[in-house]
Amino acid sequence: MTTVTQDASAMLPGAVIGERKRCGKPSCRCASRRQEDLHGPYFYRYFRENGRLRKEYVPKDRVDQVREACMRHRENQRAHRERKRRFLEQAKTVDETLRTIETLWKN
Ligand SMILES: [Zn+2]
Repeated sequence: MTTVTQDASAMLPGAVIGERKRCGKPSCRCASRRQEDLHGPYFYRYFRENGRLRKEYVPKDRVDQVREACMRHRENQRAHRERKRRFLEQAKTVDETLRTIETLWKN
C-alpha cells in the first residue's frame, strides 16, 4: 500500500469515496438489508494509473488530508490545461503572423 505524504502541498490523482460493506457473516447485523446496518464507511481513493483504475485504502484520520491532496491535484491539472490552451493560442497567433509576413515577402 502506498503511503501518502504528510506534505500540505501534496497532490494526488483521483477522488476519495466512502463505502459501506457487508462482512458476509450471516449472524452479523450487516446481513440485514438496511443500509444503516452495514459496516463502515471505509474510505478509498480511486485513481487511474497507466490507464487502469486503482483503489487505495485511506485510513479515517487521513481522509481530509487525502481529499485535499486530490483537490490540489485537480486544480493543478485544470491550471495546466489552461496554460497549454493559452500557449497553443499564442502559437497560433505567431503562426498566423509569420504567414502574413511570408505572404508580404512573396508579393
Ligand atoms: Zn458484518
